[in-house]
Amino acid sequence: MLLTGKEYLESIRDGRAIYLGKERVTDQTTHPAFAGGARTYAALFDMKADPALRDVMTFEENGERYSMYYLRPRSQEDLRRRNRAHRKIADFCFGLMGRTPDAFAGNLTGLSMKPEVFDSEPGGNSNNLLSIYQHVRRNDLFATYAIVPPQGARNKDYYLAKGLPQPALRVTAEDDKGVTLNGMKMLASGAAYAHEVLVGNVMPLAPDQLKESITCVIPLNLPGLMLWSREPFNRTGLRPFDRPLSARFDESDCMLVFRDVHVPWEKVIVHDNPALSRNIYIQTAAHVISNHQSNVRFGSKLRFMLGVASLVTRYTGARDIPAVRETLARLAAMEAGFNAMVDGQIEACQPFDNGYVVFNRRYLYAAIHWAMENHSQLIDIMRELMGGGQFQFPASIDVLEDPELRSLFETFWTAGEFAAVDRMKLFKLAWDLVGSDHASRATSYEKFFVGPAFAVRNYNFINAPWDELHAVVENFMDSYDTGSAQTQSAPPRHPG
Ligand SMILES: Cc1cc2nc3c(=O)[nH]c(=O)nc-3n(C[C@H](O)[C@H](O)[C@H](O)COP(=O)(O)OP(=O)(O)OC[C@H]3O[C@@H](n4cnc5c(N)ncnc54)[C@H](O)[C@@H]3O)c2cc1C
Repeated sequence: MLLTGKEYLESIRDGRAIYLGKERVTDQTTHPAFAGGARTYAALFDMKADPALRDVMTFEENGERYSMYYLRPRSQEDLRRRNRAHRKIADFCFGLMGRTPDAFAGNLTGLSMKPEVFDSEPGGNSNNLLSIYQHVRRNDLFATYAIVPPQGARNKDYYLAKGLPQPALRVTAEDDKGVTLNGMKMLASGAAYAHEVLVGNVMPLAPDQLKESITCVIPLNLPGLMLWSREPFNRTGLRPFDRPLSARFDESDCMLVFRDVHVPWEKVIVHDNPALSRNIYIQTAAHVISNHQSNVRFGSKLRFMLGVASLVTRYTGARDIPAVRETLARLAAMEAGFNAMVDGQIEACQPFDNGYVVFNRRYLYAAIHWAMENHSQLIDIMRELMGGGQFQFPASIDVLEDPELRSLFETFWTAGEFAAVDRMKLFKLAWDLVGSDHASRATSYEKFFVGPAFAVRNYNFINAPWDELHAVVENFMDSYDTGSAQTQSAPPRHPG
């Protein structure tokens, strides 16, 4: 089954408890803070259900059609098919939404490619994992994840010593039907719009943190579950012209607050096993399959940024100055290089267990690292290219509604061949990409969505072929000895 946009919107009006400060949001599809995002997600579902895109966006298995992002890849061509679908979705939102439905789907698909990991230790349940994978793809569900304990509350000993309730999510009771959860989980992007959420642990837990190791996939409207939203970027009366990206692409981020939430056993995939609750992402294909989507998304965003940067310089009149061309050339080289890293993950794909294949892990982690390290710098370069351009425009395009102001605006703000409205349109867009609240949140997102920098570097460390690299150097060192200065140097040995 494939949901249309309309069906998707109906399905997320499910009574979930979203809070904006003290306000309880009753319908996120019409509330001013969320309606723009909801429309974008609905449009994505419509695009996916479009018969013209059937072969790009869906695949068939045993007579059933599913969204392409649930495909378990068995060949390089399957990886290309996943890549094409991710690209279509990423291009649709210019890479500005991290939590599109294909993002977490990659995790779930990757987990299901090696379900035996769940049975390798007590507390894992591969049957539940596989039925959740089937349930989500059969119903075309959009799931997200919250897999980090709340910041500042990670030292359980502090709470135990003081006898305080622990903020980090844990199992507080168990019965025949399931577990009861209390506490908080950080930070579910897309939670206002998704159907379900995986709650788990990407940060390592201590061996005695048994009750925190709970990992489950649950609907976002379970009784007792609250979604505490951060400040949204849309407000009543904001015109899309003035914030064209915030108006469409604010994907929401919510803390998940659990108060006696009962989760049935069949939704639990890890229980009472701290090591397993962390290892499932790395020992299965989850991390590598899902993060290819992150890379594709960032590649789309880079293309969009490059286009905006170039147009801005055209509108400021600086584009043909040699130093400005050089800056644009630098941005173009960065964009091309990054996207080559993404394509390379398919070219150098790797076999995985159970007859599957995965994207090249080293190139994938290198691309994540590159994006994390360079995004802020790219934003800063764009900000520099804009000069003070953004600040010369009026607060809102509503000036056009006053004939006298309109006439002044159109007379004084028109610059050469560029009309006042067009200039304002571009600069408002560029500001929403580099300087607005929405842009600022994106800068934090690009730094942290995979985890902190030291964790990303660690993925690069553990996947590097150190023995092979050492051998290259050692073989060369073996090719010469302590002979006298007169000894003719031997050419390097062919590695053979
Ligand atoms: C916009 C946004 C969206 C997000 N969406 C999601 C989501 O959908 N799902 C989800 O599960 N999570 C999400 N996250 C959370 C993300 O996973 C975490 O922010 C990330 O893991 C870092 O954890 P933290 O924020 O608690 O930072 P901390 O762990 O507190 O680290 C903050 C900083 O402290 C320093 N530091 C801390 N520990 C160390 C150490 N051991 N060594 C060296 N330096 C250290 C580093 O400078 C680090 O950058 C999102 C985050 C952001 C910002």
